Amino acid sequence: MALIVQKYGGTSVGTPEKIRNVARRLLETKGQGHSVVAVVSAMSGVTDSLLKLAREVSGSPTERELDVLLSTGEQTTIALTAMAVDDLGGKAISLTGAQAGIVTDGIHTKAKISNITPHRIHKMLDDGNIVIVAGFQGHTDSGAITTLGRGGSDLTAIAIAAALKADICQIYTDVDGVYTCDPRIVPTAKKIEVISYDEMLEMASSGSKVMQSRSVEFAKKFQVPFEVRSSFNNNPGTTVIEETPGMENVVVRGVSLERKQAKVTIQHVPDRPGVASRIFRTLADAHVIIDMIVQNVSIEGSTDISFTMNCEELAKMGHLLDNVVAEIGAGKIIKKEGVAKLSVVGIGMRSHSGVAAKLFEALSQGSINIQMITTSEIKTAVIIDESEIESAARLAHTAFGLDA
Ligand code: ADP
Ligand code: ASP
Ligand code: MG
Repeated sequence: MALIVQKYGGTSVGTPEKIRNVARRLLETKGQGHSVVAVVSAMSGVTDSLLKLAREVSGSPTERELDVLLSTGEQTTIALTAMAVDDLGGKAISLTGAQAGIVTDGIHTKAKISNITPHRIHKMLDDGNIVIVAGFQGHTDSGAITTLGRGGSDLTAIAIAAALKADICQIYTDVDGVYTCDPRIVPTAKKIEVISYDEMLEMASSGSKVMQSRSVEFAKKFQVPFEVRSSFNNNPGTTVIEETPGMENVVVRGVSLERKQAKVTIQHVPDRPGVASRIFRTLADAHVIIDMIVQNVSIEGSTDISFTMNCEELAKMGHLLDNVVAEIGAGKIIKKEGVAKLSVVGIGMRSHSGVAAKLFEALSQGSINIQMITTSEIKTAVIIDESEIESAARLAHTAFGLDA
């Protein structure tokens, strides 16, 4: 008998019939003699609708109240799932994040889990229940409701699996597993059988939103192996584990794309110590999240600095840099939306050469212009026009031999 944590995402609980499907699956697992904890998301579209509602009543809703509002999405699903299990003759009980003992810091809308005290879950499992926990939420020491950032139910599932020392953590979603690229964009993408935490983390944080990146980080830190599989069939999924010998033989494991990026270039930045720090300190103090940063080689005492961010962050940045640029004596600030990031990821890059060349050749075949380039040990990424991102993904996918 095993202790199994199963997470069902928004599409998997998107309609009453799908909730009944989840209830049947939970009962099937329980019927095999296992103890079952389910973590569920809000029904698909609910979190977005709640956000929209908030913006209709307020131009700047407080993050505290946003959390109170958003947490109701998952609270609806836990009750409905428990009811569906009961209706099928099973025994289930629902728990909010707070009731499940999930304690977080006080950073509303993107709280970090500080600890989990799962006494109540254990007690309810011992009483023979299927325990259904609301994903994406927790509470602070002082009792305020918090949420864990978009896609945060993945994190709830991984964290609960770690706290309970579960035998298996299964992430059920609307695709059969992690693919070499989003199968909705590259139809020839293949399901990956086994992937390392590091590769999954790089893919998740560069746009493969099949897993929330923070949840993968957590799984790696606490060594929680997990599977990604479909809630609509019983096909084997993808196993995410610590790197094993032989994994490096595959140069590129997958291709990720991230739309809605923006590029900012500050021209003629004086080339002297302290200038970059002045620019990026201003952005950091305003909590603007920056992705790539590129500084050109200095010519005649000045240089251009470019950086990228999400379009929402660009809106947040607003005119923040105008004064700084004037103060340091730099030139124009050029803001460009409508760009996207394409990344190729694989731990095999550590030991193989020619990855960048192959990627750039593939893009040049499609006459796609590269605007910025960055690399890490296991990733090569480029910024290109957003209108070209899908064809770029397909070209890269083919070039690295990933097509099914
Ligand atoms: P859930 O609601 O179950 O959390 P998500 O929508 O968050 O589901 O994640 C599943 C979706 O992730 C898929 O429908 C797919 O379009 C997308 N996706 C992006 N990249 C990948 C990838 N590399 N492999 C599989 N799915 C991916
Ligand atoms: N409901 C939340 C969201 O839509 C959390 C989740 O689904 O994981 O982001
Ligand atoms: Mg998700």
